[in-house]
Amino acid sequence: MSGLETIYKAEYKSNYRAKSYEDVSIRLYSLGIEYRKDNQWISIPMNDVVSMHTYKETNIVINFGNYPYQSITCRQIEFANEIKRNFKEYKVVQQLLVNPKSTFRKLVLSIFLFFIALIALIYYVVIPWAVNKAVDNFPLQYEKEIGQAIFESAMQKEQIDSGKSRVLNNFFKELHLKSDYNIKLVCVKKNELNAYAIPGGYIVVYDEIIKNMNSYEELVALLAHEYSHIILKHSLRNVFNTLSVRVALTMIFNGFDQGSIAMLGNGAEQLRQLHYSRKLEQKADENSFIIMKGLQINPRGITSLFERFKSVEGAQVPEFLSSHPLPQERIDNINHKIEKEPFPVVEHPLLDSYFMMLK
Ligand SMILES: [Zn+2]
Repeated sequence: MSGLETIYKAEYKSNYRAKSYEDVSIRLYSLGIEYRKDNQWISIPMNDVVSMHTYKETNIVINFGNYPYQSITCRQIEFANEIKRNFKEYKVVQQLLVNPKSTFRKLVLSIFLFFIALIALIYYVVIPWAVNKAVDNFPLQYEKEIGQAIFESAMQKEQIDSGKSRVLNNFFKELHLKSDYNIKLVCVKKNELNAYAIPGGYIVVYDEIIKNMNSYEELVALLAHEYSHIILKHSLRNVFNTLSVRVALTMIFNGFDQGSIAMLGNGAEQLRQLHYSRKLEQKADENSFIIMKGLQINPRGITSLFERFKSVEGAQVPEFLSSHPLPQERIDNINHKIEKEPFPVVEHPLLDSYFMMLK
C-alpha cells in the first residue's frame, strides 16, 4: 500500500458530538486508519468505521466504534484522497465518492432542466401541433364567418374605393383561379404600401401599392401571393396563433359558436399586423410561381415586385416582404425556379387594361 509513511494532522473526539477535541497524528495502515494518542498508534480497521463524510471540499470526518461514536476530523485533502484510493472496496468509502451535495445540486438542476424542456416541448411541439390540427379540421363555413367578422371590423376605419374594387375583382377573375373560396377583393384608399389576406377569402389592397407598381405582372404576383396565403390556410393559421390559449382551447374542445367568432372579429386589428413565418412565405412564393406558370404570365413579375418594395422600411413594409427571409433571398429563390422551370409567356392585354384603370 502506498502512503503508509505519510502522517497527517487530525482532531480526535471520544464522542462525535463533543465540542472539545485532541490534536492527533493519523496515517493509513493496511486494514484502515491509525491515530497516535498517548504515544501509541491505535488502529481503526475500515470495518469499524461507521460513517465518513467530506465537507468544505477538503475536510473529512470519520466516525467509528460504538455509539456514541468516536470521530476523527482531518483537514488535509490528501488524506481523504488516500482513503478513496486505497479502500475503494469498502461501502463507507464508496459512499464518500458520491458527494451528496453535488448529487443534490445535480438533482435540482435536472428537475429545472426537465421543466424547461417540458415548457419548450409544449411551446414548440404541442401548441403548433394543436394549431395545425385545428386549422386542418376547421370547417370552411366557420372560416368564412370568421373572415367576414374580421373583414367587417377591419373595414370600419378604412375608405373603400368601390370603383377600383370592382376593377380589381375583374382583374382577379381573369386569373381563373379555382378554389373552395369565393375570393373577394377590396381596394382601400390609403397612403400605405400594403396588401393582406383575411381567412375565408378576403384580399385587401391599398391603392398606394398599386400606384407604385409598374406592370400587371407585378399585380398578379401580389394577388397570387395573398391568394396563396388564403387557400393554403396560412391566414387561418395566423388567426389561431394569435388567439389566447383560452380562446383556442375553448374552440378546439367546445367547437365554434357565434361567441367565439365575435371574439375573433374583435382581434381583427391585431390580425392585420400579423406576419407569416419564413416557411409560409416561401410556400406562398412557390405557389405564386405555379399560378403564374399556369397562366403563362411572366414570373419576373414576382421578382420585380420584390425588387420594387424591398428597400421600404419600418411600418410601411408590405405584408409580402415582412417575413424573416430577406427579400434578396426570396428573389434568388424565384430566379432559381425561373431558371429550372422555364415556360412560354404570353401577353394578357385585358389584365393590362384593368391594371391601367387601377393606376
Ligand atoms: Zn406573405
